Amino acid sequence: MYDIAIIGGGIAGLYFASLLKDKKVLLIEEHKNLGPRRCSGIVSNRINNFFELPKTIIEKEVNKAIISYKNLTGIINFDSIVLDKERLEWFLLREAKKCVEIKFEKVNKIFEDYYGVIISTKNEDYRTKYLVGCDGPNSLVRRIFIKEEPKKFYFGKFCYSKEKSKDYFQIFFDPKYSDLFSWIAPRKGKVEYGLISEKKLSYYYENFLHDKKPKYITDEGFGVIPTGMCKCSFDKGILIGNSCGQTKPLTGGGIIYSLIAAKIAAKEFNKDKPNLKNYEKECKKIFGKEIKYQLWLRKIYSKLSDKKKEKLVKLISNSKLKIDMDFPVTDILRNHKMKVLRSLFSKV
Ligand SMILES: Cc1cc2nc3c(=O)[nH]c(=O)nc-3n(C[C@H](O)[C@H](O)[C@H](O)COP(=O)(O)OP(=O)(O)OC[C@H]3O[C@@H](n4cnc5c(N)ncnc54)[C@H](O)[C@@H]3O)c2cc1C
Repeated sequence: MYDIAIIGGGIAGLYFASLLKDKKVLLIEEHKNLGPRRCSGIVSNRINNFFELPKTIIEKEVNKAIISYKNLTGIINFDSIVLDKERLEWFLLREAKKCVEIKFEKVNKIFEDYYGVIISTKNEDYRTKYLVGCDGPNSLVRRIFIKEEPKKFYFGKFCYSKEKSKDYFQIFFDPKYSDLFSWIAPRKGKVEYGLISEKKLSYYYENFLHDKKPKYITDEGFGVIPTGMCKCSFDKGILIGNSCGQTKPLTGGGIIYSLIAAKIAAKEFNKDKPNLKNYEKECKKIFGKEIKYQLWLRKIYSKLSDKKKEKLVKLISNSKLKIDMDFPVTDILRNHKMKVLRSLFSKV
């Protein structure tokens, strides 16, 4: 009988595992190579609050983006780090191995009995007292225990092209390339062309590549991003990360929220008697409001006419705000720059 079983060895599961102390823990991950390529790995400097990143994981530090809507362009400033996400996961796997037992198998079934939860793979059944679902967008744990979905599902696709990179991001709000946004991002020795959208992913992707003409495509990545956090605790366990939509509705970024949630969860599970409702409460306190604000902004943006969207791009780029990538709305409100936010929507 395990104290805790974690399903999913993405960033959420591996980081959570690496923080557990003096517990009998099993982590089960479906893919031996830690899953398909599915993330750009662009994060804020806040990543340094969680671990000391080996230099080999950092590809670039970037603090500027040129944003554009059709023919209109502007500049926004923020501090960001472009990570080699696969190397980050291998680094976290090494850390997790120090604390927990890891098996590479697919979990097919989960059921409960009087003593706890039973996790069933092709080879074996494992019994655990608590279950932690870090099993991504299509989470089995969520489907069985939560029965509620994150508010939205975005789809993302990107490719790498072997060409010289610039020192800034290019972000396009052009409706020809996405109903959300698309980007060209500088990486180490290559450039990334990508987009996220709610619908018609392949259509937008083809348009984008056709117009932007990456020189020499080496790799492609695809993934689903659930956003708009749903319930994330139940009587025998919790969800962390993508499985419950702990991502930012404005950008789809989820690494930092997953790390924050994993840290809150580990604090609770390292106690003798974890209070799982506390975990959910803390997550909501730290990033629940920001997620709600961002969903709201996204909704308003989607209803704006083309002309108003153009005006908005102009306003954002002229406002000279340095944006906190993880908590942009809270940051603006907290720093008494509400006027800026209000004007963004009243003037457009
Ligand atoms: C295209 C794209 C680009 C992105 N870019 C960024 C970005 O630039 N910055 C950022 O912050 N975030 C980005 N994200 C989001 C970010 O990758 C995630 O939010 C974050 O990594 C947290 O993921 P996770 O560990 O919760 O889930 P996942 O990474 O989805 O991992 C879930 C794991 O569970 C395993 N699993 C699932 N089911 C089972 C099962 N039944 N049995 C065993 N194992 C199972 C899977 O194999 C997988 O390894 C991007 C996402 C996508 C799709």
